[in-house]
Amino acid sequence: MSPAEQMYLDVGVSGIQRYLARTPDLKGRRGASAWLTGATDRDGLRAWIREQRALADQAISVNDEAGEADGLIPLRMPAGVEPRPVVDLVVSMLRRRLPGLQIAATWGLGNSYLDAHRRWRSTHQDPALASLPPIGDFPPLESCGLCRADPAVAEITVHDREYRICADCRQRYVDRYRRPGLESDAVPVGAECWLLEGLGLGSDHAVQEFDALANLGEAGGNRNHLATVSIDGNAIGALFRRILDGADPAAKQHASRAVAEATRQALLTATRAVLPEAGGSGSVPVIPHVLGGDDLLVSVVADRAWRFATAYLSAFERHLRESADLQVARDGGDGPTASAGVVFARATFPFRRAVELSESLLRQAKRAHAGRIPAVAWLDVTQEGEHPPPHRSAWTLDELTGMSEALAALRTGVPPSNRAVLERLADPADPGLAQARLRDHVRRLGHAAVLDPFLDMDPTTGRLLDALSLVRWWR
Ligand SMILES: [Zn+2]
Repeated sequence: MSPAEQMYLDVGVSGIQRYLARTPDLKGRRGASAWLTGATDRDGLRAWIREQRALADQAISVNDEAGEADGLIPLRMPAGVEPRPVVDLVVSMLRRRLPGLQIAATWGLGNSYLDAHRRWRSTHQDPALASLPPIGDFPPLESCGLCRADPAVAEITVHDREYRICADCRQRYVDRYRRPGLESDAVPVGAECWLLEGLGLGSDHAVQEFDALANLGEAGGNRNHLATVSIDGNAIGALFRRILDGADPAAKQHASRAVAEATRQALLTATRAVLPEAGGSGSVPVIPHVLGGDDLLVSVVADRAWRFATAYLSAFERHLRESADLQVARDGGDGPTASAGVVFARATFPFRRAVELSESLLRQAKRAHAGRIPAVAWLDVTQEGEHPPPHRSAWTLDELTGMSEALAALRTGVPPSNRAVLERLADPADPGLAQARLRDHVRRLGHAAVLDPFLDMDPTTGRLLDALSLVRWWR
């Protein structure tokens, strides 16, 4: 017998990556994350429901079938309860904490959370309710000096400078830091805490600011570059459909949680792969900003970003394959995987712009391989500006790992000044002539074979140009 129908309700923050990134520094992002974590983690949510008599009296509870995700409030209630007043309560609770949020809500009946989602998707494109921040009653004289996204309503001092700021930034920079547990700028919050705990490290292993993260780069490097990495899953929807078609009721109940768990385990595995050799002393070179479902947004010191991204994509696929709750879905169709968009830029490059670019690269990586193969699209803003060069391909995980030694040989065999010469010689418009000149140049350097793997891969020199960009941060 299938379980009785219940009403499933998701209230979530729309565009959470961009919203969190709208202030330029880590303090503002952490202030917003702290508010959101308090509202959306399971213990905080249960405590809030207990305080709302209207919710507790109607047997409304946290939906534990949903995976834990930053900015998502998943609730479950008896089929007869009217969802709209519940949505209004949750929205006003979130907006009191962070006035600038965009919020969306979806609800529907189902025998399981996955079933409710499938029924919703089969008839709707959009959320049932979208709530935008309120617009001021009078024309603003001045926009917020920190985020520029909303009108200024208050004054504060940050890093010894005076700013006129918006209501959302006031919550991020002032109010949150007056609360117990977050009195200083030093405290990591949300996914950062979860990661440190998983690594067995204390909060003194978290960096304070983006420039401190960049400063963790290798000795001899410029130590002022970061990578912003956006990751999400491929074929996760198809995975859920196969589970719904299967007979295992436990799998239907636990599938979303199993995917969220694979994301967390892959983050742990990839972070361990880039920790300092000394075995975890010193600061962690990875800052997770958003973690939930199959989504991840992190900042990584630039010279460890490739190792992080490839380790993550391998680990995510492996954890999903090994998950007991997803076994029914292993056969038939493409296995679920993940892809990544990576932006290399100076630590002073606007965080919000880096996040936008990494999201757009992630979409390119998925589009280039029809969302069926783990792949990475990247951009080196310092060298290439804000638009990828026309020849750029999104490399698959197999290509990156398969070419690992060839990339290392290119990096160590050809000094940076000579790599710049190779870039000028590699002309995709005349590949025959370009190949002859390229081979001649590396022969004189004493590394005759160093270009062959890339020219074999793509005689038009496009992949070689990719490789010359890639090796700048390949370690
Ligand atoms: Zn602001």
